[in-house]
Amino acid sequence: MASKKLYIHNTLSRKKELFEPLNPPFVGLYVCGPTVYGDGHLGHARPAITFDLVFRYMQHIGYKVRYVRNITDVGHLENDADQGEDKIAKKARLEQLEPMEVVQYFTDRYHEDMDLLNVRKPSIEPRASGHIIEQIEMVKDILKAGYAYEVNGSVYFDVEKYNKSYQYGKLSGRVVEEMLANTRDLEGQDEKRSSVDFALWKKASPEHIMRWPSPWSDGFPGWHLECSAMSTKYLGEVFDIHGGGMDLLFPHHECEIAQSNAAQGKDAVRYWMHNNMITINGQKMGKSLGNFITLREFFSGEHKALEKAYSPMTIRFFILQAHYRSTLDFSNEALMAAEKGLKRLLQALETLQSLKASDKSTVSVEGIEEKCHQAMCDDFNSPIAIAHLFDAVRIINSVNDKTDTLSANDLTHLKTIFQSFVVDILGLKPEAASTSGKSDETLKGVMQLVLDLRQQARSQKDFATSDKIRDDLAALNIAVKDSKDGASWELK
Ligand code: ZN
Repeated sequence: MASKKLYIHNTLSRKKELFEPLNPPFVGLYVCGPTVYGDGHLGHARPAITFDLVFRYMQHIGYKVRYVRNITDVGHLENDADQGEDKIAKKARLEQLEPMEVVQYFTDRYHEDMDLLNVRKPSIEPRASGHIIEQIEMVKDILKAGYAYEVNGSVYFDVEKYNKSYQYGKLSGRVVEEMLANTRDLEGQDEKRSSVDFALWKKASPEHIMRWPSPWSDGFPGWHLECSAMSTKYLGEVFDIHGGGMDLLFPHHECEIAQSNAAQGKDAVRYWMHNNMITINGQKMGKSLGNFITLREFFSGEHKALEKAYSPMTIRFFILQAHYRSTLDFSNEALMAAEKGLKRLLQALETLQSLKASDKSTVSVEGIEEKCHQAMCDDFNSPIAIAHLFDAVRIINSVNDKTDTLSANDLTHLKTIFQSFVVDILGLKPEAASTSGKSDETLKGVMQLVLDLRQQARSQKDFATSDKIRDDLAALNIAVKDSKDGASWELK
């Protein structure tokens, strides 16, 4: 059983609630994952890191968490609408690839990014295209309950009818009548009965590649359906937590709520959690604004808006330094400050291992652990927990420079706190030199020097020295390749 009282802000009730899982100590957690048609950016990193923190902390305090994070590989149309091209099919058409090649390529790259950010793998990572049968079954249930209708091989959710028995909009606070007043005349020859309705199943046009047979047409599921179908399959009809970015609150999550109620007559989700959005220099992120920076560009520094490279741990720390429900603004200045803070914290973690205990403590480490737990139990308040850890950093540094002393017990206690909170819960770890831009430059410079010396030896026919340099580098996992343009190197 969990050892702490945990409070979670529930988007649905708009207040913090004591977390009481349906079947303790088991917890079902579902988070909307990426639509895999491009490289990951900050909009992917924030929910991944937010719910990684939730996953890690819940496990730390004794819950057994089944964490399901999906991959959207079908049905997500352009502009998140019911019209337009499938985002993955479009990329496949432009690149002349199979849609599943696009999916595999960007899923692999997403996983690489997540590994670098030290985001733990979810327990299950289902793909929408692998759950077409479950989605078709759910459409049947909704049709049978009378909350959907078929038109020309497509099936739409009847929002106005649903709203008479349930409340459509209870998550986002939207009101159907107002939505109708604002959108009615915008739609022309739509086959939907009402502009607020959304697609459960779409009949595929002849040129649409990703299609499956169904009772209604050869087609594909609506985007919102996959999460309802897959969360039910792996976590049950009712489960504990559903998370995602605030951008998914409407229409995606609102539609998920409607689908579950229509299909099973009750809500599926007990606690809704949403991380807030990221801005860049105060602006929304967007391709047209020229501030759309991928994670890979952050890690390499290769983007005109970046003054330097920022390591994955810097990005992770930066995200954790803000509470997940606050907006977060990325700027070079803020990232450099985060980099400095992270360095101090990780340096203290290293220093801590070499500190020697004294007979008694001249400084108190009492209460630090409890305060960190209090912060985390208060809706995962990582910035407050980090602030308490920095109190411990000051203690570590003052013991290190002999201003203060710690007893063996206190020293062990401090090591436990750092292992738990810095390493296990916040998921921060020292990084290899090659992931930090500055060390990267240093390594490049040193390698150029070494290769120049080796070239000198070769031109003097001193092959013993040039071979020794090559072999010793190989032992350090650095491969040297000779070609007619000279020698090059790479990390193995
Ligand atoms: Zn989803």
